[in-house]
Amino acid sequence: MLLPAPMPDTAAKLIDYHCHLDLYPDFEAQFRRVAAQQIATLAVTTTPQAWRKNLELASNAPTVRVALGLHPQLAGQYPTDLALFERYLSEARYVGEVGLDAGPQYYRSYTQQKIVFESVLRLCAEAGGKILSVHSVRSHRDVLDLVERYLADTSNRVVLHWFSGSAADARRAVELGCYFSINRMMLVKRDSTLVRLLPRHRILTETDGPFTHIESRVMVPADVGHTVSLLSECLGLDLTSTVGLLKRNLITLEGEHDLLALSSPA
Ligand code: MN
Repeated sequence: MLLPAPMPDTAAKLIDYHCHLDLYPDFEAQFRRVAAQQIATLAVTTTPQAWRKNLELASNAPTVRVALGLHPQLAGQYPTDLALFERYLSEARYVGEVGLDAGPQYYRSYTQQKIVFESVLRLCAEAGGKILSVHSVRSHRDVLDLVERYLADTSNRVVLHWFSGSAADARRAVELGCYFSINRMMLVKRDSTLVRLLPRHRILTETDGPFTHIESRVMVPADVGHTVSLLSECLGLDLTSTVGLLKRNLITLEGEHDLLALSSPA
């Protein structure tokens, strides 16, 4: 009798670990497409008000992990969001987009952002086992201080999204156990020196669609293939090795969860 053939290696080939699927005009199609294209996608959200709808959209899209979010650019705009975040947190394995933004447009709400982000981190620390996609625009030191204060020695993992801190910030983030989701813009600008400094076992890829563009159109998750190819040049690896590296990193980060596992309660 023949032994069953090993499972074909059809698991996700590409990883988009920070994408706002629900913000595309054709969001329903986007969820279906990333599943059909086998793209492991972290669907981040900007408000916990979007949680249930995203879960529903992902229920037929097994490559999508939905993240419970409370975006720093919205922090303070919806006073009930923190209570909603707390209410849904036990249902979420992934948290994001959360973090801080001290850019000129959002600096005014920075104090409020810190209050919200600290509450988010405190709740994650209590819950444990979360993977957080974290925004850190012009606030690298504060973000790392808070991650250290609340999440050090917990079972939570932080993925710094589109990180643009200094080499020293990056080293500190690495010591804190952080991963980095590499955006295409980190590879086409001078930032690629930073990418080269990061330990290879801590990197993933992302699009941050629909807020990013490629060839004057809005990026979609499948465009992360361009990022992987730029990354392979940056690292001096061939494409197959780079894809393999990213996949191993995802498996390590997500632990025993299958590459195609549904975003399910922890
Ligand atoms: Mn984002």
